[in-house]
Amino acid sequence: MLASRLLWRYTERRRWSFIARGFTEAANINGSAVPNSYSGIESVKRKRVFGIAAHIDAGKTTTSEAILHASGSLRRARMGRVDRGDTALDFLPAERERGITIQSAAATFDWGDHRIFLVDSPGHLDFTFEVERALRVMDAVVVVIDAVAGVQPQTETVWRQADRAELPRLLLVNKMDRDGARLDEVVEEIQAHFGVRAPLVQYPLHGDDGTFLGVFDLITLEVRSGELLPPEICLKSLMVRAQSSRDALVEAVADVDDNVMSLFLEEKPITPEILSESIRKACAQRKLVPVLCAAALKDLGVRELMDGVVGFLPSPSEKEEPLRAQTADGRQLEIENNHEGMFVAQAFKVTHDGHRGRLVHFRAFSGTLDNKKLAIWNCNKQKKERPSKWLHMLADTFTEQERIECGDVFAMVGLRYTETGDTISLDSSKSPILDGMQVPQALCSVSIETDSPSAQRDLDEFLAKRLAEDPSLRLVHDENTGESLLSGVGELHLESICDRARSELKLDLHVSQPRVAYRESVRGESDHVEDYDAQIGMARLTARLRVRVEQLKEPGAANIVQVKGEHWSRAQKEALADGLEAGLARGRILGYRTQGISAVVSAPPGEEEHCSQYAEAALRACCSKAAREAMAAAEPIIVEPMMKVVIDVPEEYQRELMNMLAHPTERRGRVQSSAPLDWRNDATTYVRINATVPLQGMIGWTSKMRSITKGRGTFSMELDGYEQVPTVIRDSLVKGIH
Ligand code: GDP
Ligand code: MG
Repeated sequence: MLASRLLWRYTERRRWSFIARGFTEAANINGSAVPNSYSGIESVKRKRVFGIAAHIDAGKTTTSEAILHASGSLRRARMGRVDRGDTALDFLPAERERGITIQSAAATFDWGDHRIFLVDSPGHLDFTFEVERALRVMDAVVVVIDAVAGVQPQTETVWRQADRAELPRLLLVNKMDRDGARLDEVVEEIQAHFGVRAPLVQYPLHGDDGTFLGVFDLITLEVRSGELLPPEICLKSLMVRAQSSRDALVEAVADVDDNVMSLFLEEKPITPEILSESIRKACAQRKLVPVLCAAALKDLGVRELMDGVVGFLPSPSEKEEPLRAQTADGRQLEIENNHEGMFVAQAFKVTHDGHRGRLVHFRAFSGTLDNKKLAIWNCNKQKKERPSKWLHMLADTFTEQERIECGDVFAMVGLRYTETGDTISLDSSKSPILDGMQVPQALCSVSIETDSPSAQRDLDEFLAKRLAEDPSLRLVHDENTGESLLSGVGELHLESICDRARSELKLDLHVSQPRVAYRESVRGESDHVEDYDAQIGMARLTARLRVRVEQLKEPGAANIVQVKGEHWSRAQKEALADGLEAGLARGRILGYRTQGISAVVSAPPGEEEHCSQYAEAALRACCSKAAREAMAAAEPIIVEPMMKVVIDVPEEYQRELMNMLAHPTERRGRVQSSAPLDWRNDATTYVRINATVPLQGMIGWTSKMRSITKGRGTFSMELDGYEQVPTVIRDSLVKGIH
């Protein structure tokens, strides 16, 4: 105790008037959030909108839960635990049972005098659309890494996604309490892997027996989890040990900040204020990623993480780039990120709530909304909407708001037309439209059936809601077989929907094995001239057209259709483009949707002068027929989605898994590389396998790998492209075996 008191006194002297921000205040409020009494720019400056991303099991949910607990915004005494299934953020029963986070929920709470919007995005690879849309609404990401496992396959995926979304980030090395935690190596791994400057801003404190006790702040040189400090921690040796980490921090900051560099070279003092302000700037410009450490499960380092969020991450008004939008008449518009501009918000999610009905979730990017009498303008649908309530949410509880402001993540009740991706505003004359959200392709489908008509009605209603919430989900009724086919991004995506249907509706569902969404394309090229001559009622319709079909370089790309020639009228051109698209829509082998095809229609050479006589109906029919014939002559093929797969497993399973992946008929994968990772876990060497595998070959992989490796392997996969299926698969598809 004495030593720790001495240490406090010591740091007190060295305090350079550091203001202990949010954490002391927040720690005191426990149970009652401080009302956010600021307005205008002061209020926007005190907002942080961030998300947490991680490889599965790194501790994303536990960290979120610990943050909510520490903020005092949960109306219960104990912190929720994933293992007990009582966390606030994973509120769907299916999520609690599986211990994974499926729906991205946003939580709003106050941290000191800051208002925080924590967007929880799913960690699972199958829900990439959820991740994508969560990234769209946040201003920054906290990437959580397991202190033992280090950089894992999914860490790389989320890192790349955050790069693409140009988001500043903090890195939290979690599970510092575990045996084998290896902070320094993990930090090196991060720097090497992602090519970033990632200095530690905290130094971990350990007791004599190696127990993780908390952190020493390398900026203020303060012990942060001070109360727990046992007497044996000696200040002097702590300062000595932490010195090299602090030097590394100062050097990293000096690298990106000339002011700090000159202070450093002149050996002048670099105060905590200067240091933290430089880190804040460099972090926002993505030149530096501050690294923090924690044991979220033990509630250690969590308050310090939140102080880091408030101290280092940018507010909504500090975005480097203004947001770009298009007006209804196609002009470009730049939207300032501040509270004074035009009110602009984008819908990123639609959910259904038992009490409130349809909820549309938004992120406000600019302006202020404070008059409930005004109608909202949906710029995409060009329709007025009259919301009945504006809400902030904490998992599945909501509080009504009187004002919505730049930066807020909020929900509205009572909207009829607004869907995911739509922009809302108050200004129907400018009608700004922000870029929509890219919905990933459906790669996989299952047929789904119930036992009775009444169960079927329940299921239909349930699925209609899920379809409205999740644009990456599709439902098709096959007239021929009477089947309902549900398609989505992947096996787990579909499984999670079916599980939720089972648990919410208490139904027996019959779900088929997942099937891959094959596509058709062509491998060659061909020209076809089609003569069209038909008597329709009293009219005789004729046309003569030439269609050229060839393969696009990228077999996964959408078809490109083109109408050539200056002699067509506008209506004729439209009819021709329609005809081409209709003709190409379905492949010639099995009628799958097509892609990767370029098709050009024109008048046959020398016949241009006849063109003006052709009726549009004749052109449409002729063009469609010509496209089908040309496609049939251009070596039609079936293509399948290929996945880039990264697997981390203990060495002992390497051979077996590689053999499985490369199995010529079952999985058909190509292993590109496999190499030991630098780290060991429980004295086991892990290897990383990189492979390209058809999605068909990855069906059932999650459970297969889990049972082989006894849960000790992890993997990530993403769509790499499309390839022609081998002849055996083509033949079995044609015979209807697959
Ligand atoms: P997520 O998949 O990233 O959301 O990870 P979870 O929060 O669900 O955590 C995965 C597992 O790691 C759970 O069993 C947690 O109890 C455990 N866990 C999370 N944080 C810590 C930590 O700080 N220390 C230890 N020892 N275990 C942790
Ligand atoms: Mg989770």
